[in-house]
Amino acid sequence: KSDVSLSQRNASITTTTTTHGLSETVVGVLGGGQLGRMLCQAASQMSIKVNILDPLTNCPASSISTHHMVGSYNDSAKVEEFAKSCGILTVEIEHVDADTLEKLEKQGLDCQPKASTIRIIQDKYLQKVHFSRNNIPLPKFVQINDQESAERAGQEFGYPLMIKSRRLAYDGRGNVVAKTEKELTSAINALGGFDHGLYVEQWAPFVKELAVIVARGRDNSISCYPVVETVHRENICHIVKAPANESWKIMKLATDIASRAVASLEGAGVFAVELFLTEDGQILLNEVAPRPHNSGHHTIESCYTSQYEQHLRAIVGLPLGNPSLKVPAAMMYNILGEDDGEAGFILANQIIKRALCTPGAAIHWYDKPDMRKQRKMGHITVVGPSMGIVEARVKSFLEEESSEET
Ligand code: ATP
Ligand code: MG
Ligand code: MG
Repeated sequence: KSDVSLSQRNASITTTTTTHGLSETVVGVLGGGQLGRMLCQAASQMSIKVNILDPLTNCPASSISTHHMVGSYNDSAKVEEFAKSCGILTVEIEHVDADTLEKLEKQGLDCQPKASTIRIIQDKYLQKVHFSRNNIPLPKFVQINDQESAERAGQEFGYPLMIKSRRLAYDGRGNVVAKTEKELTSAINALGGFDHGLYVEQWAPFVKELAVIVARGRDNSISCYPVVETVHRENICHIVKAPANESWKIMKLATDIASRAVASLEGAGVFAVELFLTEDGQILLNEVAPRPHNSGHHTIESCYTSQYEQHLRAIVGLPLGNPSLKVPAAMMYNILGEDDGEAGFILANQIIKRALCTPGAAIHWYDKPDMRKQRKMGHITVVGPSMGIVEARVKSFLEEESSEET
């Protein structure tokens, strides 16, 4: 009698294991930069274990991850070995070995978002082809293979012409503008020539850049964050204002296009959709990131559920949280390296010192081992009762003489 009850009890234990906490699944993250670091911070609050794979021993996420495997996310053997230690695999950078992820997925790896999504996104030309097939509005684009096709594109699209690398692009590092046909050759050379895989985009005459973070759960539930305005300095995201100051109609159009773009991709997680707003009220897609994004840093302090928590909820299969703003206004300021080395640290420290005395300001420092010009070293989010007040607060820590708080 007791034997039977014991086997029944064991069966019930194996089929209905109780979760102690939010999730016992170990999340593996390819990449351990600042996005990985902030994912680990959110995971820590929920006691979700996060392992990271990153080649740098002292990468930003290293000290706060559960386990750091040192290695490249482009090394097939390392990715395979790493995947064995994780229940779910996700990314904080899209420039990873998609072939290996696809292979492992076929063997049962739970990759969120799906490897197919990462494959599409990591090649910006393929990404554009994908979105145009899915009827998402975007600037005209064409692949270029030689001088002749580049000139033809210039004649068709006009100048200035945006030339982009298909792969490994970030922070505008794969973009060069040719103002005239004369500048075509030098622009193409600056990107390493045609062998590197280039394409061109028609210049988007935008009046503003907007972004929307869209979250999708494992059950296909969708949740959109408020539309934000992103301000770039030399192609690098510099300031984010939440919410964007646009009409309800524009906000709805941006949200609709962003969710349609994400609906065309597979897998769970948060996705960032970068958009152009043109003078005549059109919204064009710039690009999508299949992961938390710089335009969503502000959500840590300004929204009920941060994009990092939302990403974890989405991939492990928890209900999505509330993406709404819990404050009237927020602004995120990226601390970009002003200079290489010590001089850069001195300048960053001056801003941080003043921000420490600014009401509503939260400082994030990524602990990157080296200071480099234009590198994202940290960020500051300021929240407040109105965008005017938030802007004044940001101004006060950017200026030498801090102005009076309004
Ligand atoms: P990220 O760090 O966001 O991944 P990236 O290196 O992939 O950046 P893009 O997003 O392609 O670069 O472009 C960076 C910036 O360059 C855009 O945010 C925008 O300001 C400008 N830009 C890009 N494409 C165009 C275009 N077709 N017309 C005008 N400006 C553009
Ligand atoms: Mg990009
Ligand atoms: Mg971009």
